[in-house]
Amino acid sequence: MNTKVIRWSPESGFREEELREAKRIIEEGGLVAFPTETVYGLGGDGLQKEAAKKIYAAKGRPSDNPLILHIGRWEQLDGITGHVPEAAGKLAEAFWPGPLTMIFEKADCVPPETTGGLDTVAVRMPEHRGALEFLNEVSVPVAAPSANRSGRPSPTCAGHVKEDLDGKIDMIIDGGEVGIGFESTIIDMTEEIPVILRPGYITQQMLIDV
Ligand code: AMP
Ligand code: MG
Repeated sequence: MNTKVIRWSPESGFREEELREAKRIIEEGGLVAFPTETVYGLGGDGLQKEAAKKIYAAKGRPSDNPLILHIGRWEQLDGITGHVPEAAGKLAEAFWPGPLTMIFEKADCVPPETTGGLDTVAVRMPEHRGALEFLNEVSVPVAAPSANRSGRPSPTCAGHVKEDLDGKIDMIIDGGEVGIGFESTIIDMTEEIPVILRPGYITQQMLIDV
């Protein structure tokens, strides 16, 4: 497979036809690496089990490791989750877009291949303009772990993605250097009292304050 590299920059954004091609790839079950404010993600349609399988294969990652679904706007949450507690709305208002991942009951349309067999789903809205443009163009939630081979460092530029995944994925969106030096904070919203599963850029105190 030939891995196509397209560019996004804060000044010029995407070229229209390239963004449409990225959308087509995701809709057809292919893989597109894209920049976020944390690291580059390896994205596929979060509602297609074949896309999830391709992500695991490209990364060389065991398939019981659940993937985070990336969305571009709040309304997308409805379609992929069951109950969303009120507290999640407050956290989203404070920290989305941003490096906060929330865990919810999943809707039936999210395949177990995406969630590592769990009946919950992890969701985040990244704070990167290129990522948001891409996610809003494709409109399905995009499942994305970091765009590296398993065991290698998480990539913060397109060149690192290429080193690991060239020939294994359909497209790389080159948005330059990214990386706030932290992973997203993961918080489980399915418990009566939300539980932090992974510390990250958003601290416990920031969450408590909200
Ligand atoms: P990342 O490595 O940043 O792509 O984050 C993936 C991690 O998110 C997984 O390894 C899990 O630790 C966590 N995760 C994803 N989905 C769930 C879920 N439904 N329940 C609990 N943890 C999850
Ligand atoms: Mg990773």
